[in-house]
Amino acid sequence: MRSMRVGLAICCMLPALLGAQPRARFDIERLADGVYTTVRREPASLFFEPNSVFIIGPRDVIVVDAQFSLETTREVIAALRRLTDKPVRWVVNTHAHDDHITGNQAYRDAYPEVQFIAHRATRDTMVGVGAQKRAEFLASLPGTIGFFRKLLADGKSPDGSPITAEERAGFASDSVLGTRFLAEAPGVHLVPADIVVDDRIELRQGGRVIELRHLGGGHSAGDLVVWLPAERIVAAGDLVGLPVPLVGSTSHPAAFADALVRLRGLGAAVVVPGHGPVQRDERQIVAVEEMLRAIVSGVERGVARGDSLAAVRRTVDLTRWRDRFAGESKLQRFAFANYVADPAVAAAFADATAASAEHEVRAVVQRLFDAMRAKDTAAMRALFDQDAKLVGMRPGRPADAPVVQRLTAADFAAFVARDTRAPWIERAWDAEVRISGSLATVWAAYDFHFGETFSHCGVDAVQLLRTAQGWRIMSIADTFVREGCPQRPPP
Ligand SMILES: [Zn+2]
Repeated sequence: MRSMRVGLAICCMLPALLGAQPRARFDIERLADGVYTTVRREPASLFFEPNSVFIIGPRDVIVVDAQFSLETTREVIAALRRLTDKPVRWVVNTHAHDDHITGNQAYRDAYPEVQFIAHRATRDTMVGVGAQKRAEFLASLPGTIGFFRKLLADGKSPDGSPITAEERAGFASDSVLGTRFLAEAPGVHLVPADIVVDDRIELRQGGRVIELRHLGGGHSAGDLVVWLPAERIVAAGDLVGLPVPLVGSTSHPAAFADALVRLRGLGAAVVVPGHGPVQRDERQIVAVEEMLRAIVSGVERGVARGDSLAAVRRTVDLTRWRDRFAGESKLQRFAFANYVADPAVAAAFADATAASAEHEVRAVVQRLFDAMRAKDTAAMRALFDQDAKLVGMRPGRPADAPVVQRLTAADFAAFVARDTRAPWIERAWDAEVRISGSLATVWAAYDFHFGETFSHCGVDAVQLLRTAQGWRIMSIADTFVREGCPQRPPP
């Protein structure tokens, strides 16, 4: 959660609203012998607490996800202690969003021996960009809380129409959660994973098998699901959320749809969503997958036409999906705009643009190889920026003192065209492409033949510049190795 563009706030009328809140903030649902989930009671709005699953074994407990605040996490721990006096051995964080990780510290306080498990990308986010994201979120939070406070005080919806009872309850809950988060923030220490998962790991608890699986980066780059194959129960994290799916700004919609296919492939009888009631059929998952495919294909068509994000937004029609997930509810439509329409289209656009740019950059390098083979001077020169340079590192004596050859692109093209040997055949593989704005770099292994005859191999490091006419090569540096060359894998 948490892609809100609006901000949310607490207000003079909140004490009354707070007084009206029910005491218990979640129910406990038994899913199987020793397997329970909390099901949150806060109204589904813009801020919410996640469900936590308890897997109670003969000696200890596995918990899936902490909460958005220490206070709420402590309430969940207290409920767990009413079920069992066994200690929590592992807490699995399904992803790095604040609502699933902030409460880790409460588990460490309650169970000093506990270990945290997360996907590598979740751990990396928590120890890396997470701190900055959290700071930005905290900085925006008073404004967000203020926004909701004003809606409550004015009796208005975000669209200016009279506020509904559902909106009033939702925005009041958002205000409470946001305010609690803000108040606790100075004392919160994020506790990152002790154990990192790349693809999957299996835990054992007595005879029970618990699989932690990464089904691909969907809701975030580091989603983990917790799968109990014997019980056919899966805790899906925010790959599944209700009523409005949580696509969000850190999502990758195409990968999200693929992850949902893999999730269905588990054959679960019971799906515990990150937010919302326990699911015992696939309807929500199938609908979200279809919506994501529709978003991705609509966005890709726009990117192929060269449309801007704003233009793509006008052509990707999500009305049907908004009706499916939000119905007539103004609050859920607002959530849909904030969690699906706005961020998912932007995320799909970023992915499609990056894929399209990467495709173009790779194509420029391949066109250079094709032009070299054809000794086509004009085609070669057209691929280079006017001041492009080629820097060749040739073996010297000793070998670690290379002879550096420098050529202009024009001299290089002329040299290739004059060369009377068999055609130059250069083949690259394992290319790593990095793109930021108008800058691209390609780092690739290559081998080189004169016709059928192998000559040498090495690494090409190519820098490209995006111009109004497309990508142009600014420089190529390469190494030159005669012996011990790897074979290019079959394409
Ligand atoms: Zn969440």
